[in-house]
Amino acid sequence: MQLHLVVNTFGADLARRYGEKIYKLTLHGGFSCPNRTGELGRGGCTFCNVASIIDESIQVKSISEQLSLQASQMRKSKRYLAYFQAYTSTYAEVAILKKMYEQALQSADIVGLCIGTRPDCVPDEALQLLAQYQDQGFEVWLELGLQTSNDKTLRDINRGHTYLDYHKTTQKARQLGIKVCTHLIVGLPKETKQDCFTTLNQVLETGVDGLKLHPLHIVEGSIMAKAWRAGRQSVLSLDEYVDIAGDLIRHTPKEILYHRISANARKPTLLAPDWCENHWQSMNAVDSNLRQFGVQGSALGDSYQFIA
Ligand code: SF4
Repeated sequence: MQLHLVVNTFGADLARRYGEKIYKLTLHGGFSCPNRTGELGRGGCTFCNVASIIDESIQVKSISEQLSLQASQMRKSKRYLAYFQAYTSTYAEVAILKKMYEQALQSADIVGLCIGTRPDCVPDEALQLLAQYQDQGFEVWLELGLQTSNDKTLRDINRGHTYLDYHKTTQKARQLGIKVCTHLIVGLPKETKQDCFTTLNQVLETGVDGLKLHPLHIVEGSIMAKAWRAGRQSVLSLDEYVDIAGDLIRHTPKEILYHRISANARKPTLLAPDWCENHWQSMNAVDSNLRQFGVQGSALGDSYQFIA
């Protein structure tokens, strides 16, 4: 599979700009989530169980220990992005954020930061801190979990924020020159393909630099797992996901970087759909769809073309 020939991938973009492969090392900064602590909500998003996407046990290690452990297991890369992924990685006093982020940036092989967080939990001081790192020459990405632009769905899945929260934070970040990567879920409860397009169009209208697409998957320990067991929540087939993801990518301007076009989870935490266990299966299927029906941007009459 050569996804970078049909999609403007973040990986190929990094390789072009840095002259070598740059991988993300996933960090747990020990942050919590205001949608779980009661500050902004309780119970968390209905699809969420953080243990399904990151090894919770790594948070007992320091940031530099986590980085060196993962770097020692990498064969194909010598430089990395430090990805603060777990929970809400801007949910702390700015002095603590600074300490955490700078522990990562002080590693000689780190070229920058990716900070995963919620749109309603990014104080101006955190943005200013990130802007400083960018001014120092580091690669900086703010990864915002939006999932959908539909406020009713956002309420149904207990996100605790609105599209307006996302819009405001994205605009502030981009005004400071910080790149924003937005996470979207395909297949949320009661959402149709048209809803996915509405979300994409609103996100493009607000302005964005990168996108991550995920299929909805049901994980053990989430609120949604109960609804799925009771037959009240369905999931997409692989064909349905590929059809929607392929069309969304074709309607995405060629300059927007795709950081991810699918996602996986580990069994036994993953309950459904089974195809989400194998990342490559869905990646290959989306790749084939794009080769057959048109590459990124082709539906807008401005197709992406790979430049080495
Ligand atoms: S998805 Fe993110 S915001 Fe939602 S409960 Fe999980 S950690 Fe919190």
